[in-house]
Amino acid sequence: MPMPVRSLPVVQNWDCHGCTDCCREYRVQVTDAEKARIDTQGWADDPAMKGVAPFVWDGGWFSGRYRLNHTSDGSCVFLNEQGGCRIHAKFGSAAKPLACRVFPFVFIPFGNQWRVGLRFVCPSAANDLGRPVSEHQAELREYAEALEVQEGIAGRAMAAPILQKGRSVPWNDLDLFIRAFRGHIADERRPLEWRLRKCLAVIQLCREARFDAISGDRLREFLEVIGGGVNEEVPARPEAVPPPSWIGRILFRQTMAIQARVDKGRYRGISRHGRSTLLWAAWKFAQGTGRVPAVHGLIPDVSFEQIENPVGPLPEASTKVLVRYFQLKLDSGQFFGPNNFQHQFWDGLVSLIQTYPAIMWLSRALHHLPREEALIMAMRIVDNNFGFNPMLGSRRQKICSSILNRRGEIARLIAWYSR
Ligand code: SF4
Repeated sequence: MPMPVRSLPVVQNWDCHGCTDCCREYRVQVTDAEKARIDTQGWADDPAMKGVAPFVWDGGWFSGRYRLNHTSDGSCVFLNEQGGCRIHAKFGSAAKPLACRVFPFVFIPFGNQWRVGLRFVCPSAANDLGRPVSEHQAELREYAEALEVQEGIAGRAMAAPILQKGRSVPWNDLDLFIRAFRGHIADERRPLEWRLRKCLAVIQLCREARFDAISGDRLREFLEVIGGGVNEEVPARPEAVPPPSWIGRILFRQTMAIQARVDKGRYRGISRHGRSTLLWAAWKFAQGTGRVPAVHGLIPDVSFEQIENPVGPLPEASTKVLVRYFQLKLDSGQFFGPNNFQHQFWDGLVSLIQTYPAIMWLSRALHHLPREEALIMAMRIVDNNFGFNPMLGSRRQKICSSILNRRGEIARLIAWYSR
């Protein structure tokens, strides 16, 4: 019996609007079964393919897989002249690789159910365009079932989630934590930056508590009490928070060099000029002066110093977009465990909150765009990497994030880039 797919409680719309971004930006690896199925469709001899092989080997000899090939203009070899998929057009949706069918949805195993997240790099998801996600329930159930078969996880019991080293809670209690944080993010009486700083303060208190004897209703009460009690501890205005220290700034900029980076597709940045240019860029990000290296193709001529200038409070419309983004990530659980480099719950939540200063920083860098547009574009770029760029999951990066958090730098960065 397949696991049920839980409907999203967050109001989020989506439908594919055929921009073809995903068919140009992503390298889609296929399983052996998917390759065998597509091989039997006869593409190798199809004149529409113009002699380009359908697959290419991706990775090392022992760890790689075949992936869909791309043409010289960077688009998927199956992208047709009308902006559609050749496989879909000829054989139907089920004939495509599962990764293509599922995008931009993300499936997160959560206890005995699937939760659904979305990749905000898709412009339709970021801009909330299309039908409510609840109207996609039938497809989502179909994808989840296919995923269970493909990943061999059908009927497998899930271990209790880990909050932090040596501490785990039942899935029902984890849901209470998530609901509490969703509530903090939804609190419209305060600016979003304050709500996020409050979340960090609550996380800190929860890390120090033990939940062995607190569960269910008692846990709910506990979370209400600390949620209310912490309000006085969190400085009301960002100006009252000390600026990030030099070490906080360096570590943050090094993370930004990864968060903003794109190495493939039409937005590819300076990585096209080779490894030595990337090393130079890493040095510039550590140094933090002069022109920002265009690690993403959209980064214009902008200096590190320019990005530090205040730009004023977040526009109302952008607040709504970011609240939706954070609530959806929270509710889906798309921030810890297998969907975010095996981060334990608290660390994963901190890494999600850290995307806020990253989005603010990058939106300032994209100063050639109107502010609300720059914020959406920055969110798309940051979310493209969040949970997917293996560099963010590296041991080095996890240590870097942990130092930022332990020193209180993340709250400082949130406040600093909210001025
Ligand atoms: S990026 Fe989103 S809107 Fe664009 S083609 Fe892909 S799924 Fe459709």
